[in-house]
Amino acid sequence: MKLPQVSQNNLPKGRILFVHPPYVHYSQLSTGAPFLRDPSPFLPVAPLYAGALLEELGQGHVEYFDGQLHDLSQKTDFDEYDEIAIAVMGAQNVAPAFETFRHVTKFVPPERVSLGGQAAESLSRAEFDTLFSGARQVSRTSLDRGEHAYHVTVGKQLDKFPEDDVMTYLTSELTLPFSQGCIFGCNFCGAQTRQKERFFDTGSNLEGFAVRAKARGIDELSFYCTSLDFFQQALKGGDLQKLTQRLEHIIAVRERTGVNFRLRALTRADSYVAAMGVEGLFDLVREAGFHTFGFGADGAASTTLLRVMKRGSDELGSDLLRAFAHAEENGLVPEILYVFGIPEDTTETLNETKALCVGLLSEFPHSIYRGFPAKNEIPGNRNWRKPGWLDSATYRTLLSDPRLFANLGFEALANEISHPDPEQRKLVNRYAVEMSHAAHSMGRVLSYLTVPVPVAEQPAFMDAGAFELFHDIVNRYAPQIASELTIDNIADLRGPLNELIPKDK
Ligand code: SF4
Repeated sequence: MKLPQVSQNNLPKGRILFVHPPYVHYSQLSTGAPFLRDPSPFLPVAPLYAGALLEELGQGHVEYFDGQLHDLSQKTDFDEYDEIAIAVMGAQNVAPAFETFRHVTKFVPPERVSLGGQAAESLSRAEFDTLFSGARQVSRTSLDRGEHAYHVTVGKQLDKFPEDDVMTYLTSELTLPFSQGCIFGCNFCGAQTRQKERFFDTGSNLEGFAVRAKARGIDELSFYCTSLDFFQQALKGGDLQKLTQRLEHIIAVRERTGVNFRLRALTRADSYVAAMGVEGLFDLVREAGFHTFGFGADGAASTTLLRVMKRGSDELGSDLLRAFAHAEENGLVPEILYVFGIPEDTTETLNETKALCVGLLSEFPHSIYRGFPAKNEIPGNRNWRKPGWLDSATYRTLLSDPRLFANLGFEALANEISHPDPEQRKLVNRYAVEMSHAAHSMGRVLSYLTVPVPVAEQPAFMDAGAFELFHDIVNRYAPQIASELTIDNIADLRGPLNELIPKDK
């Protein structure tokens, strides 16, 4: 299918190399440390998708370099390409993207480099120029050709990678283009908010992966689905057929190819509860291969909810509790995603969140904890544009040292950028560590706190009580580091520690 031709002044053209920067905690470009091949890489689907669109638009031929799997510092032939494109998806990825940009521009002028993706396109022109001086800022909308864009598939792009890499991707968790857009507009959210959910050609993309897996003797694939709220079409005004059709496509691909799928996705509790009332829907969900749903639990900690829980589970009074009970009864794992430590949080509210966390883990024996200290201001969310933030010294510090964007990763402990007040920072981290420790003790945790980049010599990440629990957690992943870790040298050991902490998925 050929897409309609339109003026593409800002888009890369000719022979284009897409560079996917390394994982933020494995990026060695600035330190000169030995290259670390990412033990749990993911297929960079967004650049593949952009590459497929560029080729459909007749912009040229696209090739790829994945900094997760190959040492970028050894790549020097950038001048052989007409243009270099760097993908910057989450806010923390600005840090490795900056290092990648610095490396690439040793070989080609910045005018031949474009940066796109959620975090790059959310920067103001001035912010972008400060970080990536002379480069071109490309937005995803400049690639969007209405409904046509949603029918593009990535299989042929995958064939351009070395065979070893293809095997690595197919045996790791893949990303399945499912949908994008969410009708809600939470302040902290940097995704595509306040827009109708739009769907990709899930069946064809899945078939592309399955056929390639089958040819290599792989009979099961794991996927994370891109939808922001999987059951959003079950809410009032939604079109449920769009969801059920895709589930049927997934089942049909499995039957056609003989490749089994294991899938997980995120959902809001209210959407999930709305979906519970739809006859046959969860049969399709299970038949397609879904095993886990992640629920946002932030803001759910209310005294009413806690009272309900303390009375026992026969009077489940909230969407969250109903959704959890339903998931467990139906053989699905409910994951609890907490974002806590917003400016409004106090000891009292954090206590409630912790009580909810421990309560849910106890009441639902299959549920899994994922907790994230809030990052209130990230490029693309509404807080990022507020004058109080743009006028702050913290904002200026962040822009003056792009390594600090690593501190905006949701898995990072509260830090001097996300929580400039040291008392609030220590309070948030105390609860982050306490909840993580409780979940670790039950063996039910899937989110791992990383150590932020310090600004001051003594960044005051946590108090002595929290450090004791943190040390205990570190001992599970990195006993060799735990033996020398003290509250005063956390920041010094950041690099080796973060390399050993399992990556949040
Ligand atoms: S946090 Fe979830 S519900 Fe809120 S806007 Fe983002 S995707 Fe939508």
